[in-house]
Amino acid sequence: MSISRQKALQDVLERTPRTVERPDNKISNYFGENVFNLTMMREYLTDEACDSIVDAMENHTSISRAIADQVASAMKEWAISRGATHYTHWFQPLTGATAEKHDSFISPTSDGRVIEKFDGSLLVQQEPDASSFPNGGIRNTFEARGYTLWDPTSPAFVWENTLCIPTIFISYTGFALDNKTPLLKALAKVDEAATSVCQYFDKNITKVVATLGWEQEYFLVDKALHAARPDLQLTGRALFGAAPAKGQQLDDHYFGSIPARASAYMKEFELECHKLGIPVTTRHNEVAPNQFECAPVFEEANLANDHNLLLMEVMEQVARKHNFRVLLHEKPYPGLNGSGKHNNWSLGTNTGVNLLKPGNNPKTNLRFLTFFVNTLAALHKRADVIRAAIASVGNDHRLGANEAPPAIISAFIGSQLSSLLDELETSIKAGKLTPEDKTALKLEIGRIPEVLLDNTDRNRTSPFAFTGNKFELRAVGSTANCAVPMTVLNTIVAEQLNEFKSAVDARIEGGDKKDDAILKELQKLIAESKSIRFEGNGYSNDWVKEAKKRGLSNLRTTPEALAVFSRKEVVSLFEDLGVLRKEELAARVEVELENYIMKRQIEYRVLLGMCKNSVLPAAIRYQSGLLTNVEQLSTVLGKQATKFSGAQIDMIKQAGQLIQDLHAATSDMEAIHDKAEAAKDALASAKAFAEKVVPSMDAAAEICAKLESLVDDAEWPLPKFSELLFTR
Ligand code: ADP
Ligand code: MG
Repeated sequence: MSISRQKALQDVLERTPRTVERPDNKISNYFGENVFNLTMMREYLTDEACDSIVDAMENHTSISRAIADQVASAMKEWAISRGATHYTHWFQPLTGATAEKHDSFISPTSDGRVIEKFDGSLLVQQEPDASSFPNGGIRNTFEARGYTLWDPTSPAFVWENTLCIPTIFISYTGFALDNKTPLLKALAKVDEAATSVCQYFDKNITKVVATLGWEQEYFLVDKALHAARPDLQLTGRALFGAAPAKGQQLDDHYFGSIPARASAYMKEFELECHKLGIPVTTRHNEVAPNQFECAPVFEEANLANDHNLLLMEVMEQVARKHNFRVLLHEKPYPGLNGSGKHNNWSLGTNTGVNLLKPGNNPKTNLRFLTFFVNTLAALHKRADVIRAAIASVGNDHRLGANEAPPAIISAFIGSQLSSLLDELETSIKAGKLTPEDKTALKLEIGRIPEVLLDNTDRNRTSPFAFTGNKFELRAVGSTANCAVPMTVLNTIVAEQLNEFKSAVDARIEGGDKKDDAILKELQKLIAESKSIRFEGNGYSNDWVKEAKKRGLSNLRTTPEALAVFSRKEVVSLFEDLGVLRKEELAARVEVELENYIMKRQIEYRVLLGMCKNSVLPAAIRYQSGLLTNVEQLSTVLGKQATKFSGAQIDMIKQAGQLIQDLHAATSDMEAIHDKAEAAKDALASAKAFAEKVVPSMDAAAEICAKLESLVDDAEWPLPKFSELLFTR
């Protein structure tokens, strides 16, 4: 239900910050108290059961039925002690959000009572009615069986009186219907590939985990104002609005003091996060007014991703208690900075080494260079797949819009590492390396730590930036499930590392010393992947031209980007590594395209409705008021009236013109939309939405914004940007 703008503004004036008390000012005293983590397991389980779980977590071994029963029973006892009455398998269907079906623990007894029951079979596997989840034709809907299977690598937790068990979601025939399954496979592949390359440097390295630290951007808006805007309610973004007199131009919001109500909100959702074991640590204002960011300490990628998905849920729930709504959309307000979710990524070893952190001697630096250069080479070879992985309806409004990295994928590594790579490219000679060559190279490579200390020239315009000890994939959208880009990034790095390993081994077999073989192979990769490195301004038009010359893609819209997943060599990439089968990939494209079309359709319908039911009537009322005034002037003043009604007549004409324009624009929009809807297949339809419908909607939105600036403020029915952004 919509409420009136006046009522909403009145409501906001009466708000006060909600008081939030921490149970204890030592976070460590309650951190993870709602998680069935290893410490809890040790308390509730036998050593044998604990060891089996740890083994499953570390080595992906299976858990026996007897142990599963034991774990389930312990989990239930623990969960009940934390207030849980229900349990759910918590999974990540292709819609991008998380899904859950709650069942209570109760089981009836013969004498009419109930007891709490939960056994291993319920823990390990569940059969939700999967027919209503998008599956892209993998499973006919009459064959509604899909299974959720326990992922013991991510601990169960209690949220809102429910025990949530992280699971994967697969079809009866074994196809992945979710985003977690391929992520787990990609992580296993990168572990295998990286561990094997690490053997060149350190035999003690037996496991490599991908790490992820996300940075979640979001907007807050008062719930009453939100309720007065159908577009925010139904599409998550404002479809039009006049630019506020004060926007983000003063840059006074960024890192400024956090407004009191927002601060109370943050404290409460951070508290809930900490209880859930999500290590959120950083909070600050973002570029736009009422825009903020939250970031955790990084974790293993699968867990970090579960934590991000859970965080988004917690943020939404807690926001309501504070009379806020949280906007996670990539572009809630046209004309203002949008929201992203930077994915900081690296590889860590069982020996505690970050493989993207330079060491303090030539040997560890050669290891660093190996992983650094291979990552660049992977990006160079598979840039389009990364682009496809970050494609979403909301992200289309950010990429290339001079605020987020462009749709062109490139890497920023800083001027000093660039010059080092340039030197290595030319100084490693073909043939045998002489001792002098090697000394010179060692000197060069030994300089890396020192180089990095000075590497402060951060480039915010790059989609993939090296930031000292990790790469930061900055093009991910704020609503995204990081599993998708993380699956792709880890898969392409695994592919590259495998190729590297074979190439180096071949050189060694051909008589090269190990270090020479590595150096020569790195040199080759440095040379080959050069075009992906870009240190300049990613927002500039010159870069678009330059990238084109370099042969880099510029896939501007989601439908164009998604088509990448259907390319033969991309299908092979995922199939060869066993991350996604052909059918699974095809299903993903289908689901994503449908998702794109449906979201655009909803936006179109909402905009059309707002134009017809809110904006045009308001404009006409305004014009009628002016007309009445002119009439009254003429009644009272007779001929003299013309002296005093010129301005009104001007305004009547201006409004009249805009009313005609908007009416025409909505008719155009309708015709264009109907054509897009009738396109021959999903890809053609999605492309028509992206290329034709969206511009027609923008044209109508522009006229709405002009009317907003013209019409009597008292008549305007929708909260304005200035109110949405500055009313706190
Ligand atoms: P920024 O200056 O980019 O805004 P933030 O402090 O907001 O930096 O976020 C940086 C993120 O990178 C944090 O989540 C941090 O934990 C993460 N990070 C740091 N080191 C690593 C690593 N080795 N692997 C993955 N993420 C990391
Ligand atoms: Mg940050």
